[in-house]
Amino acid sequence: MRQVAVIGSGPSGCYLADQLLRLMPDARVDVVDRLPVPFGLVRHGVAPDHQGTKAVARLLDRILAHDRAAFFGNVEVGRDVTLAQLGQYYDAVVLATGAAIDRRTGLPGEELAQVMGSGKLVSWYNGHPDRGEPDFGAGRAAVVIGHGNVAIDIARILAKTPGELAGSDIDDAAAARIAALPLTRIHVVGRRGPQDAKFTPHELGELGQLARARPVIAGAPDLAGDTAVMTTFRGFAAPAAVKPIEIIFHFGLAPREFLGLGRLEAVRFAGAAGDVTLPADFAVTCIGYEARACDDCTPVDGVMAHDGGLVRPGLYVVGWAGRGPSGTIPTNRTEAQGLAKRMAGEVVAAGRPGRDALRAALRCPIVDHAGWKRIDAAELAAAPERRVRAKFTDIGAMLDSAGRLLDA
Ligand SMILES: Cc1cc2nc3c(=O)[nH]c(=O)nc-3n(C[C@H](O)[C@H](O)[C@H](O)COP(=O)(O)OP(=O)(O)OC[C@H]3O[C@@H](n4cnc5c(N)ncnc54)[C@H](O)[C@@H]3O)c2cc1C
Repeated sequence: MRQVAVIGSGPSGCYLADQLLRLMPDARVDVVDRLPVPFGLVRHGVAPDHQGTKAVARLLDRILAHDRAAFFGNVEVGRDVTLAQLGQYYDAVVLATGAAIDRRTGLPGEELAQVMGSGKLVSWYNGHPDRGEPDFGAGRAAVVIGHGNVAIDIARILAKTPGELAGSDIDDAAAARIAALPLTRIHVVGRRGPQDAKFTPHELGELGQLARARPVIAGAPDLAGDTAVMTTFRGFAAPAAVKPIEIIFHFGLAPREFLGLGRLEAVRFAGAAGDVTLPADFAVTCIGYEARACDDCTPVDGVMAHDGGLVRPGLYVVGWAGRGPSGTIPTNRTEAQGLAKRMAGEVVAAGRPGRDALRAALRCPIVDHAGWKRIDAAELAAAPERRVRAKFTDIGAMLDSAGRLLDA
């Protein structure tokens, strides 16, 4: 048998496992994740009110349940096991560890507590165990920097009423804090023009359907163009009923400085007609993510350096860890297909022991696929009214719920 370990159970790790199992009928594929729960950003990144997108988890789950696959949850490579050990146990090891670090702006004032990366806010409302509590200051005015779908997700989640979050799996405590914010303005600011915004029409259009918020266009940008996004922007520019929150789109403004003594008071931008200063109680930067080191493998310029997916002999990379934060979930499947083809051609069975040796080496509790299914069932059963799931946000609670642990 060929033995492969995939580190990371997000879309790229699961899709790669699927492709390897298809192309290598003589392979066992073990998927290792630092969390007791799988699926990476599908669980902790994708917006909690977009359950249609999150439903891909059911497909990924079937991959982990394959009889030649095994899930090793709660196992962090670099903490519980090293890459060198995995290299002894497996014929090939794949980094599918994502890009979990918020890219920084490097601007003055970024260290203020009310300035946060999108990853911090998103992992908080999605109930990630590593989450920290965001500081919203007085909570009246928000500046969201970036013109991609993550910025839209954030504006929408902040603007929705509790009723509009029915049917989501948002963390309940986060939802309650958001509902209590006295928000009146959410500025969504991009450095380029409307034609360059990276919004998808559906996500943008949702902002025009909100109960307590209406989208507005600042200034008089050129909104010509026959794309769905430009049509939607023109709709936003037309007069509309006043609502308690305005989501204000700004174009052509490059952030220069976060202003405030001890707490954020405003964000200064440079525009074609001079500087623009937007008062803000908190700011969220949606400017991308960087890969985190995995044991002795460290990123260069935010990604793991590789040549066609090969990092070094026996070690491969797939998904955001190697590509950076681009594309959609299906992009990871396409990339995984290519890498699996390469690996099927070059990974050689060398009599390595695979999962038995990994189990024997680990000293931490391991959550296998059956353990994850028990967590899943408990979360579904505990869902309060108007939620589809009540996520555990604490590793200890997840482990308790997983119950029977694989023998280490
Ligand atoms: C806020 C946000 C919203 C998004 N919304 C959408 C959307 O609506 N539609 C869409 O198509 N795409 C969306 N995406 C993009 C999508 O989530 C990514 O394309 C996808 O998750 C990348 O997959 P990945 O497997 O490379 O990384 P991830 O999903 O991040 O998975 C990485 C996994 O590796 C694990 N890991 C990391 N380090 C270690 C280690 N040392 N040891 C063991 N395990 C480790 C992590 O716990 C994690 O489970 C969104 C992304 C973000 C950030």
